[in-house]
Amino acid sequence: MKNVILSCLFIAASTSLYSQNIGGIEDELIAENVPKVTDLTITTATLLVDSVAMIPFFNEYASDWNNSKVHPYNVDLTKMTDSIPLVLSHSECDYAHSVCGDINSEFGYRRNRFHYGIDVDLNVGDDVLASFEGIIRIAKYDKTYGNVIVIRHQNGLETLYAHLSKFEAQVGDYVQAGDLIALGGNTGRSTGPHLHFEVRYLGEPINPNDIIDFVNGRLKMDELALTDENFAYLKEIRKRKYYSVRSGDSLSRIAVRKGVTISKLCSLNGISRNSILQIGQNIRYN
Ligand SMILES: [Zn+2]
Repeated sequence: MKNVILSCLFIAASTSLYSQNIGGIEDELIAENVPKVTDLTITTATLLVDSVAMIPFFNEYASDWNNSKVHPYNVDLTKMTDSIPLVLSHSECDYAHSVCGDINSEFGYRRNRFHYGIDVDLNVGDDVLASFEGIIRIAKYDKTYGNVIVIRHQNGLETLYAHLSKFEAQVGDYVQAGDLIALGGNTGRSTGPHLHFEVRYLGEPINPNDIIDFVNGRLKMDELALTDENFAYLKEIRKRKYYSVRSGDSLSRIAVRKGVTISKLCSLNGISRNSILQIGQNIRYN
């Protein structure tokens, strides 16, 4: 593992975290990085500065090499029109299954929240391996993810490993597929030991099942043609609208304010007319 010093660029952006309450997985919501989005812009210029030229996909990520924010990006890949070819593997050695274990929770909706990763069962102290070759962008504690590592890979993807008990690598480390990067754990908003694993491109999550066979612990294909289909689920999520409950609010007041019926609010949120609202609670109204 080679350490490359990459403390050069810090670009702030917004992110939003939420959580939910499901046993054995996260007890609070996990990363929804979709509050603000802009049109996709992908540049193709080649960078010649040695230090940053080592950062995979530096230009595609708008020169953003942020070592403090887990989700610093702000793009909308639901609007992409072209197919982006991403090489996942040239040989069997180019991919390593991070943790072999049962799936505790899949990518997708959990109750009313979207779970942007896959939860893999493990024991505290189990090895967590890098999935692909790349450079570690994030290795820090996050209140939701707990100890979390994000790796920017040579193929353009970023993978995220959360709820870790111990770091075995640090920001700037160059890792190969299969290198030990951390030990599994139960840190952050987690109800039990597991690995929360995400795959993202330019910050936008894709379903890890799109590329990885979690039953057999291997890739499904050697090259991924990334298209807007990989992000179609986000179109539905982003249509949804939420209202944050304030002091004195009631379902009837929210219904009037948002021009919907109380029945619709109850249906959208899985609550009853008599449910007690909490200040700051997000109520979906569309
Ligand atoms: Zn999870």
